[in-house]
Amino acid sequence: MATGSLSSVPKRLRMVEDFSCTRCSEQNLTESADIYCEKCLRFYCKKCVILHSQFFTIHMTCGREDIKKWPVSKAVEDFLRKCEVHEDETLTKFCHFHSQLCCSSCVGTIHSQCSKVTPINELTNTQRTYLQGLLVELETVLGEIKNLQRPALSHCREHTRNMGHS
Ligand SMILES: [Zn+2]
Ligand SMILES: [Zn+2]
Ligand SMILES: [Zn+2]
Ligand SMILES: [Zn+2]
Repeated sequence: MATGSLSSVPKRLRMVEDFSCTRCSEQNLTESADIYCEKCLRFYCKKCVILHSQFFTIHMTCGREDIKKWPVSKAVEDFLRKCEVHEDETLTKFCHFHSQLCCSSCVGTIHSQCSKVTPINELTNTQRTYLQGLLVELETVLGEIKNLQRPALSHCREHTRNMGHS
Protein backbone atom coordinates (compact mmCIF):
# COMPACT_ATOMS: atom_id res chain seq x y z
CA MET A 1 0.00 0.00 0.00
CA ALA A 2 1.09 3.51 -0.68
CA THR A 3 2.27 5.58 2.22
CA GLY A 4 1.70 8.89 0.49
CA SER A 5 0.53 10.85 3.50
CA LEU A 6 3.44 9.74 5.63
CA SER A 7 6.01 11.24 3.31
CA SER A 8 4.87 14.69 4.35
CA VAL A 9 5.27 14.05 8.05
CA PRO A 10 8.82 15.22 8.75
CA LYS A 11 8.17 18.66 7.31
CA ARG A 12 5.11 19.08 9.44
CA LEU A 13 6.86 17.86 12.51
CA ARG A 14 9.46 20.56 12.11
CA MET A 15 6.74 23.15 12.19
CA VAL A 16 5.34 21.60 15.29
CA GLU A 17 8.69 21.41 17.01
CA ASP A 18 9.40 25.03 16.30
CA PHE A 19 7.56 26.52 19.20
CA SER A 20 7.79 30.25 19.35
CA CYS A 21 7.63 32.60 22.27
CA THR A 22 4.03 33.64 22.84
CA ARG A 23 4.93 37.04 24.18
CA CYS A 24 7.30 37.83 21.31
CA SER A 25 4.90 36.63 18.66
CA GLU A 26 2.32 39.07 20.01
CA GLN A 27 4.82 41.77 19.10
CA ASN A 28 5.42 40.22 15.68
CA LEU A 29 8.79 38.88 16.69
CA THR A 30 9.88 35.32 16.16
CA GLU A 31 11.84 33.92 19.05
CA SER A 32 11.97 30.22 19.61
CA ALA A 33 10.56 29.19 22.93
CA ASP A 34 12.78 27.67 25.60
CA ILE A 35 10.30 27.54 28.41
CA TYR A 36 6.70 26.59 28.81
CA CYS A 37 4.73 27.83 31.78
CA GLU A 38 2.01 25.45 32.91
CA LYS A 39 0.23 28.22 34.77
CA CYS A 40 0.15 30.80 32.00
CA LEU A 41 -0.16 28.16 29.29
CA ARG A 42 2.33 30.23 27.37
CA PHE A 43 5.71 29.78 25.80
CA TYR A 44 8.62 32.02 26.62
CA CYS A 45 11.99 32.64 25.06
CA LYS A 46 15.12 33.11 27.16
CA LYS A 47 14.58 36.84 27.39
CA CYS A 48 10.90 36.79 28.21
CA VAL A 49 11.23 34.13 30.85
CA ILE A 50 13.34 36.51 32.90
CA LEU A 51 10.49 39.01 32.94
CA HIS A 52 8.03 36.25 33.54
CA SER A 53 9.84 34.98 36.58
CA GLN A 54 9.95 38.50 38.01
CA PHE A 55 6.20 38.86 37.74
CA PHE A 56 5.18 35.33 38.55
CA THR A 57 7.67 34.03 41.04
CA ILE A 58 5.61 30.99 41.98
CA HIS A 59 4.98 29.70 38.49
CA MET A 60 6.56 26.41 37.59
CA THR A 61 8.14 26.44 34.19
CA CYS A 62 9.40 23.62 32.01
CA GLY A 63 12.40 23.74 29.76
CA ARG A 64 12.89 21.75 26.61
CA GLU A 65 14.19 18.75 28.54
CA ASP A 66 10.67 18.48 29.85
CA ILE A 67 9.13 18.86 26.43
CA LYS A 68 6.77 15.99 27.07
CA LYS A 69 4.88 18.31 29.36
CA TRP A 70 4.55 20.89 26.65
CA PRO A 71 1.15 20.87 25.08
CA VAL A 72 2.51 19.38 21.92
CA SER A 73 -0.15 16.77 21.32
CA LYS A 74 -2.87 19.28 20.65
CA ALA A 75 -0.66 21.30 18.35
CA VAL A 76 0.41 18.18 16.55
CA GLU A 77 -3.14 17.07 16.18
CA ASP A 78 -4.13 20.41 14.73
CA PHE A 79 -1.26 20.32 12.30
CA LEU A 80 -1.97 16.79 11.25
CA ARG A 81 -5.57 17.66 10.62
CA LYS A 82 -4.64 20.61 8.46
CA CYS A 83 -4.24 20.25 4.74
CA GLU A 84 -0.65 20.76 3.75
CA VAL A 85 -1.55 22.62 0.59
CA HIS A 86 -4.44 24.67 1.92
CA GLU A 87 -3.42 25.78 5.36
CA ASP A 88 -6.81 26.92 6.55
CA GLU A 89 -8.55 23.75 5.44
CA THR A 90 -9.10 20.70 7.58
CA LEU A 91 -8.58 17.23 6.15
CA THR A 92 -12.05 15.83 5.78
CA LYS A 93 -11.80 13.42 2.85
CA PHE A 94 -9.85 10.39 1.84
CA CYS A 95 -8.79 9.76 -1.76
CA HIS A 96 -8.64 6.05 -2.45
CA PHE A 97 -6.65 6.52 -5.62
CA HIS A 98 -3.80 8.35 -3.88
CA SER A 99 -4.39 6.73 -0.47
CA GLN A 100 -4.21 10.20 0.91
CA LEU A 101 -6.16 12.43 3.21
CA CYS A 102 -7.29 15.64 1.58
CA CYS A 103 -9.44 18.69 2.14
CA SER A 104 -12.42 19.91 0.15
CA SER A 105 -10.24 22.33 -1.84
CA CYS A 106 -7.91 19.47 -2.80
CA VAL A 107 -10.86 17.50 -4.07
CA GLY A 108 -11.60 20.27 -6.54
CA THR A 109 -7.99 20.60 -7.67
CA ILE A 110 -5.38 17.91 -6.96
CA HIS A 111 -7.94 15.12 -6.76
CA SER A 112 -10.37 16.43 -9.37
CA GLN A 113 -9.58 13.42 -11.59
CA CYS A 114 -9.89 10.94 -8.74
CA SER A 115 -13.10 8.99 -8.92
CA LYS A 116 -13.17 7.68 -5.37
CA VAL A 117 -12.98 10.32 -2.67
CA THR A 118 -14.90 9.57 0.51
CA PRO A 119 -15.63 11.86 3.45
CA ILE A 120 -13.68 10.53 6.44
CA ASN A 121 -16.82 9.97 8.48
CA GLU A 122 -18.29 7.77 5.75
CA LEU A 123 -15.37 5.41 5.53
CA THR A 124 -16.00 1.78 6.31
CA ASN A 125 -14.43 0.20 9.36
CA THR A 126 -11.60 -1.38 7.41
CA GLN A 127 -10.70 1.92 5.85
CA ARG A 128 -10.88 3.65 9.19
CA THR A 129 -8.48 1.13 10.62
CA TYR A 130 -6.04 1.97 7.88
CA LEU A 131 -6.30 5.66 8.71
CA GLN A 132 -5.93 5.01 12.40
CA GLY A 133 -2.85 3.01 11.55
CA LEU A 134 -1.44 6.10 9.88
CA LEU A 135 -2.22 8.22 12.89
CA VAL A 136 -0.66 5.70 15.25
CA GLU A 137 2.42 5.73 13.09
CA LEU A 138 2.54 9.50 13.29
CA GLU A 139 2.27 9.36 17.04
CA THR A 140 5.13 6.88 17.13
CA VAL A 141 7.30 9.12 15.01
CA LEU A 142 6.49 11.99 17.31
CA GLY A 143 7.37 9.96 20.37
CA GLU A 144 10.70 9.09 18.85
CA ILE A 145 11.44 12.69 18.01
CA LYS A 146 10.68 13.69 21.56
CA ASN A 147 13.03 11.02 22.82
CA LEU A 148 15.77 12.31 20.57
CA GLN A 149 15.58 15.76 22.02
CA ARG A 150 18.49 16.10 24.33
CA PRO A 151 18.22 17.81 27.64
CA ALA A 152 20.52 20.59 26.53
CA LEU A 153 20.14 23.13 29.27
CA SER A 154 18.62 22.81 32.64
CA HIS A 155 15.84 25.32 32.45
CA CYS A 156 13.42 23.43 34.57
CA ARG A 157 12.84 24.81 37.96
CA GLU A 158 12.22 22.65 40.97
CA HIS A 159 8.95 20.89 40.55
CA THR A 160 6.89 20.93 43.65
CA ARG A 161 4.07 18.93 42.15
CA ASN A 162 4.92 15.63 43.82
CA MET A 163 4.57 17.27 47.21
CA GLY A 164 0.91 18.04 46.87
CA HIS A 165 -1.43 17.23 44.06
CA SER A 166 -0.51 14.73 41.43
ZN1 LIG B 1 10.05 36.21 23.97
ZN1 LIG C 1 3.58 31.66 34.21
ZN1 LIG D 1 -6.14 20.89 0.50
ZN1 LIG E 1 -6.55 11.59 -5.46
